[in-house]
Amino acid sequence: MPVFPAYLTPQQEDELRKIANAIVVPGKGILAADESTGTIGKRFVGIGVDNTEENRRRYRELLFSADAAVADNISGVILFHETLYQKAKDGTPFPKLLASKGIIPGIKVDKGVVPLAGTDGESTTQGLDGLAERCAQYKKDGAQFAKWRCVLKISEHTPTYQAMMENANVLARYASICQQNGLVPIVEPEVLCDGEHDLYTAQTVTEQVLAFTYKALSDHHVFLEGTLLKPNMVTAGQSCKQKFSAEENARATVQALSRAVPPAMPGVVFLSGGQSEEDSTLNLNAINTCTAAPKPWALTFSFGRALQASVLKAWQGDDKNIDAAQKQLCLRAKANGLAALGQYKGDMATSAGDQSLFVPKHQY
Ligand code: 13P
Repeated sequence: MPVFPAYLTPQQEDELRKIANAIVVPGKGILAADESTGTIGKRFVGIGVDNTEENRRRYRELLFSADAAVADNISGVILFHETLYQKAKDGTPFPKLLASKGIIPGIKVDKGVVPLAGTDGESTTQGLDGLAERCAQYKKDGAQFAKWRCVLKISEHTPTYQAMMENANVLARYASICQQNGLVPIVEPEVLCDGEHDLYTAQTVTEQVLAFTYKALSDHHVFLEGTLLKPNMVTAGQSCKQKFSAEENARATVQALSRAVPPAMPGVVFLSGGQSEEDSTLNLNAINTCTAAPKPWALTFSFGRALQASVLKAWQGDDKNIDAAQKQLCLRAKANGLAALGQYKGDMATSAGDQSLFVPKHQY
């Protein structure tokens, strides 16, 4: 007779389930503010701000001290290691500041994308060494969930079987380690939008990548109710000549998810992936109104660029603009909160609204 030892106690499962469900309550989603030092530096270049530790701290304080109403639409924030240990001007540690507003702190635990040798530019993600110890410490220091990003690229011969297997497996190992340490793993297999491929190709690849991912999560006995999925929305390649409507993108996305994602998994928190702020919101709204396939999970956002572009533009590194920048964040959060309910009317575009946020071969 086969034996399946339970590796989580019912109490551990309950805790994970509660955290995951709290993140995806109706009308709320995640602010991804976990840009690595290099990546936030690229964002700062655009507004002429030096990439110093103090400027990174000032910027993150601006985000986390926005009007309390932001918590009506933001349930969780993903932090970078440095940010988890930074403090507001008055000495309040950032995780404490977020928790005081009812926002759940999370932490990026991967150590970045590295090449898979012998492939046509494919990658895996590193960071498993010492992960259990880091997760245990992060949990003590206030984090309740984690993120790990894997990247798959579409080209004539990719993604390969090797890349899909490897990335699914490393995501499953990460998820298992997080759960054993009380952190809800956000599982992020991002299919990049770089390329000329059409919507159908993007859908087929996304379906396959998700199927590999959920097979690996099952192989590693990951407790699905205590996880969240962070996928790309299904959209045609950035350089595709044909343009598709939000409704077409939504149908392709919902179909792909319904074919590969088990209903035990509570919530899908989409990345924005280089879409403009307004496109991300309109696509999310269309996904929530789409009836092309069953949708047994919450469908909401975990946006980085699409929640911050207008904020950065308004801030410009100047303290006198903090209020205006925070207003942009609240407005974007509200629009996305409405989109997560399928109630966004397309009438809340912010200053960077239509600007493409595409970054080729995006690193985080
Ligand atoms: P974008 O929304 O900018 O794609 O980033 C989300 C994220 O966390 C990627 O890992």
